[in-house]
Amino acid sequence: RAAARHKGSLAVKHTTGGSCSFGKLLDSSASIKAELQRVLPAANNKNGSSCDGPRVGIYAEPGMQYVAATYAAWMAGAVAVPLAVSHPPQELDHVIRDAGISAVLTSSSGHDKLKDVAHAAGAALHLVQQELFEGSDPWLNTSSSSSSSSSSSSNAEQQDWQEIACSSTSDASSGALIVYTSGTTGRPKGALHTHGSLAAQVECLTRAWQWQPSDVMLHALPLHHVHGIINGLYCAHYSGAAISFLPKFSPAAVWQQLMEGDVSVLMAVPTMYSYLLSHYESHMSPEEQHAARAAAARLRLTVSGSAAAPVPLLQRWQGLSGQRLLERYGMTETGMILSNPYEGERRPGFVGLPLPGVEVKVVEQSSSSSSSSSSNGNGNGSADASNEPAASNEDSGAEVLRQGELAVRGPMLFREYWGRPQATTEAFDGEGYFLTGDTVSLEGSPPYYRILGRSSVDIIKSGGFKISALDIEGALLHHADVAEAAVLGLPDEALGEVVAALIVPKAASKSAAGGDAASCDVAVSGDKLLGQLKGLARRELASYCLPRVWRLLDAPLPRNAMGKVNKKQLLKEFFPAQA
Ligand code: ATP
Ligand code: MG
Repeated sequence: RAAARHKGSLAVKHTTGGSCSFGKLLDSSASIKAELQRVLPAANNKNGSSCDGPRVGIYAEPGMQYVAATYAAWMAGAVAVPLAVSHPPQELDHVIRDAGISAVLTSSSGHDKLKDVAHAAGAALHLVQQELFEGSDPWLNTSSSSSSSSSSSSNAEQQDWQEIACSSTSDASSGALIVYTSGTTGRPKGALHTHGSLAAQVECLTRAWQWQPSDVMLHALPLHHVHGIINGLYCAHYSGAAISFLPKFSPAAVWQQLMEGDVSVLMAVPTMYSYLLSHYESHMSPEEQHAARAAAARLRLTVSGSAAAPVPLLQRWQGLSGQRLLERYGMTETGMILSNPYEGERRPGFVGLPLPGVEVKVVEQSSSSSSSSSSNGNGNGSADASNEPAASNEDSGAEVLRQGELAVRGPMLFREYWGRPQATTEAFDGEGYFLTGDTVSLEGSPPYYRILGRSSVDIIKSGGFKISALDIEGALLHHADVAEAAVLGLPDEALGEVVAALIVPKAASKSAAGGDAASCDVAVSGDKLLGQLKGLARRELASYCLPRVWRLLDAPLPRNAMGKVNKKQLLKEFFPAQA
């Protein structure tokens, strides 16, 4: 409905060529909807929920077909399930069966790749015709306020979306989208969001980050996780802003788009910013660097999330662009929860405060009575210090007001893990708060939240201390020759766990990225680097946080599509005896 208010404006363009207005996008969606309804079963509530439509998979490269297919699924009353174009057949088969998908909307290349899998899993495959997006665009630059300005407005299909646009009733509690979690800690789980939870997220974020109809977001994120789908695509379209799709992330292509175009918004995971910086530093002439700096400085909004952004990365980006990345924290199940402010202090290493409408509480993990204190994003929660203050790993001197597992409540939360009633029940406490599994601390002045890591793998318990792996990684990344660091806890008889550090030197990272390792500016040998890192750790970290085990790696850390490291997998790979 929001998109329909902007029908004469640009909705989607492809960096490789081609674009369409919101009007044309919605016309196409209405055509796809009409065809989809022919292949969909009338009612298909496999999990017994009363108000959910059939599940429709979306399997297309980032672009108009993907977007129109999603909107078509909603127009047909279906639940959209984005499928990852990068996933192997067995993973796609799992999702199609797990979500009970009855039909998949796909592009022609997707059709070829998916047909066997879809057939085996019993899902109908429906091709979204490329022709829908070709030819002239009768809506572009027509008045957005007029409802009959299109030359082809008598078309019954347009009537369809205009009716949807004008109707004021919508069932907020019915399923809209199933997004699978990133699978960092286990098999991905399908999180069902309703139209109401999506609307709550989008309304909150568009206001908090001041989305405007004139915005153009360069989109190089996967379209099967909330970062790319909700924070990016839906927020843009809700605001009447355009999405410029890059078919595949590469630092050279992103820089080219930023330098050439009218891009105002960039959202990415920390690894992408790291690649952009390395490309700028190692592969650009001084003239290109000058243009790149100007392009980065022009951006209205640059957001980082999905994984922790190391402080040195934030500093390097600020050095380049004069701007501080806006780091936020969220999950598939909850949407965005905590964010640094759009205006005001963006504190490196912190993720800010609860977004408007989000209630959070910090549950103390040490006490079985789970004492907690809460605050919300409406400004009437306060950072009371009723919890026992905990020590900070780093000698930052900042007072820690609260520390424990973050729990969250609000209209933006998912309704359920699809087909997993027990997991859903276990994920919430008695007060309706969703337990994130992430440990946070509230500290500094004014108090901001800091993510200490996943309680299961990033919080290392050693000699009675709780140590944040993320803090140690952040400290080790201060060394100029370190590209990546991953810190793990290894079982230890005396201490419970000891800290192990895996280090990827810049040389290893550059040679793997196709750079010339021999010519890169690593000043030290492996042994010397380790010696220097041990010294750095002694200076920057409390003594109980010092790594006891060190490994230098000769290749980048294995990361998933969202740039996340699976630490259980790292443990198995590098310390099989302790795994
Ligand atoms: P799975 O639940 O399948 O194991 P996942 O938790 O990685 O995978 P997502 O929902 O995509 O799946 O990611 C949410 C998690 O990402 C959060 O719980 C948190 O651990 C991490 N995260 C997101 N943003 C940040 C951030 N700014 N800093 C640190 N961690 C972050
Ligand atoms: Mg998770």
